[in-house]
Amino acid sequence: MTDFARTKALFAIPDGVVYLDGNSLGPPLRGVAARLSRVVEEEWGGDLIRAWNTRGWMAMPAASGDRIARLIGAPAGSVTMGDTLSIKVFQALAAALAMRPDRRVILSDTGNFPTDLYMAQGLIGLKDAGYRLVTVAPENVEAALDDTVAAMMLTEVDYRTGRLHDMARLTRAAHRAGAVAIWDLAHSAGALPVGIAEHDAEFAVGCTYKYLNGGPGAPAFIYVRPDLAAAARPALSGWIGHAAPFAFEPGYRPAPGVERMRVGTPPILALAALDAALDAFDGVDMADVRRRSIELSGAFVAAVARAAPGLELASPRDPAARGSQVSFRHPQAYAVMQALIERGVIGDVRAPDVLRFGFAPLYLDLDDAERGAAILGEILASGAWREPRFSVRAAVT
Ligand SMILES: *Cc1c(COP(=O)(O)O)cnc(C)c1O
Repeated sequence: MTDFARTKALFAIPDGVVYLDGNSLGPPLRGVAARLSRVVEEEWGGDLIRAWNTRGWMAMPAASGDRIARLIGAPAGSVTMGDTLSIKVFQALAAALAMRPDRRVILSDTGNFPTDLYMAQGLIGLKDAGYRLVTVAPENVEAALDDTVAAMMLTEVDYRTGRLHDMARLTRAAHRAGAVAIWDLAHSAGALPVGIAEHDAEFAVGCTYKYLNGGPGAPAFIYVRPDLAAAARPALSGWIGHAAPFAFEPGYRPAPGVERMRVGTPPILALAALDAALDAFDGVDMADVRRRSIELSGAFVAAVARAAPGLELASPRDPAARGSQVSFRHPQAYAVMQALIERGVIGDVRAPDVLRFGFAPLYLDLDDAERGAAILGEILASGAWREPRFSVRAAVT
């Protein structure tokens, strides 16, 4: 049984703050600053360039990849790290299209995060070979799978509503149609159990700054099904994904396995912060995380229904049908959220009218859920959010 009081104590969250935005940027662990200063002063400062060998820096993407592999149900050696999620989406999609050269459709859904769709659009433009991005409503994905679809590219948990796709069913359906399945686990990794290998999906990608708490701009991950890794074609053929980077050969030869999805020099400081953050998952069973997440989000939904009866739930009411966040709709969502943040309850908004609250079991408990809901209720009942200063927009929401 996972000890969530122990994991909560690992996080440095300011006193008085209820942090319900770990679905966007997880908080730092207490140990991260010390780890970073050790890497800067001892490893980088002490060993200088020798540290690539003496401190195992070049193996860090594989080491963090293995730790993340456990959390998404993948075998060791099947995940590597680097770049941002947008880049990893591009790489997975490019490799998937190369596996189905006679098909021209990329199938996604209208709830997908825009950058995933933008990257597909960019790749289509670059290939200039008649590819089409088709987006359908999330509930219509299965019906849209046919023999024109090269790749089904979906995000398991909808970033706005928290709606959870049925990965097992949709991956099976994609394979029946002869399509390659790519899953974006941005809102899944560290939030719920993912059986990526069990479902036989070809590719998965995700970021590490949300539920994995790797820090702002932390490196992304990519999984390639092991039986495909030796044949997957890397579109971004950078030297660190070469079979022999330090042979400095003029021609590109991909590394044997998933390492071919590396591109350039690994971000060592960011990888060190991520590695320190992943300590929080040591001894944590993802099935316990899921149970606890449902308990917390369920308590929040029930408490909001009491404290703010008119507020419309934008997430599925059935906890089994959502990820680890709950969302509500309010026409003045932005101002409501600013008022809430001033009272110490931090969530975020997605235009035009969605209030989002993420429930990360590693550092939240039932008191947090109850307090967050109570303060939300007070702000709506008093109309405190109507103060004009709460409507002044910042660049990042
Ligand atoms: C958060 C998120 C991203 C962000 O991509 P970056 O390249 O890391 O900025 C992409 N896709 C999905 C589905 C996300 O939730």
